[in-house]
Amino acid sequence: MRQNPNHRLAGQTCIVTGANSGIGKEVALSMGRDCANVVVNYITDPAAAEEVAHEIESNDAVAKAIAVKADVSKEDQVQEMFRVAKQHFGTVDILVNNAGLQRDAAFQDMTLAQWQFVIDVNLTGQFLCSREAVREFLQRGKQDYSCAVGKIICMSSVHEIIPWAGHINYAASKGGVMLLMKSMAQELGPKGIRVNSIAPGAIQTPINRDAWETPEALEKLNKLIPYKRIGQTTDIGAVAVWLVSDEADYIHGTTIVVDGGMTLYPGFTENG
Ligand code: NAD
Repeated sequence: MRQNPNHRLAGQTCIVTGANSGIGKEVALSMGRDCANVVVNYITDPAAAEEVAHEIESNDAVAKAIAVKADVSKEDQVQEMFRVAKQHFGTVDILVNNAGLQRDAAFQDMTLAQWQFVIDVNLTGQFLCSREAVREFLQRGKQDYSCAVGKIICMSSVHEIIPWAGHINYAASKGGVMLLMKSMAQELGPKGIRVNSIAPGAIQTPINRDAWETPEALEKLNKLIPYKRIGQTTDIGAVAVWLVSDEADYIHGTTIVVDGGMTLYPGFTENG
């Protein structure tokens, strides 16, 4: 039976990491619009996180939201975030591993600290949050309001596929996320837990301001995008909600690429 598109997540609770900015913010708002309760995770700027939580509650009379500070790369802070989420909402049904960052450098200049920081947040952070989510899914068991026992989205990137000079720590972290997601899906599918990734192309957020803030930068960027526009956070929010809804119940262990065609080798367009 097709569910009301605005109530697809009613009765469920979602943690979105790094949800006070960019893609995570829009994913959190979108989950709330489909009636999920939302934990708005953040590491800096608590006011922005409170604002997202407030907006969720004012957009929808059903959805509730709280802002919870936690560094996703720290085991104790991740465990505390899940404890607070469960105390507040009873359980967790959906995890969106969104928090991520870049620390760019030419390969020969990249410090161990730059390498480690990106791996810790982008890859280890997804491991730590997923493990806590899975522990909760397994101890809670199946509920009537969802086909799956629990759902996880890993926010990856087109750079799980496209090598990226000058950003080797970032590309390595997203390549790692791809096999983290697939291996979790293989192991946890039999337990009713659905795991997938979203790989955004260029989405207009603070993480890539250099790539879109001048007309010249945008023109250069558009050369890499066959569909000829930069992505918006709403392009990702819509896919994320659908992907954790029962409408997508048979989608498991795959990456949904949302990139306007960036992965189509656009450099070959004129060379047929
Ligand atoms: P953003 O900088 O707006 O958001 C990143 C969020 O992660 C911020 O809220 C930040 O505070 C948070 N964060 C960073 N370190 C954290 C930590 N240790 N613990 C908790 N939160 C932390 O950037 P964005 O573009 O919205 O990026 C979101 C995700 O999407 C990232 O994983 C990024 O790699 C991925 N992505 C973005 C694009 C793009 O073009 N914008 C493309 C592909 C993938």
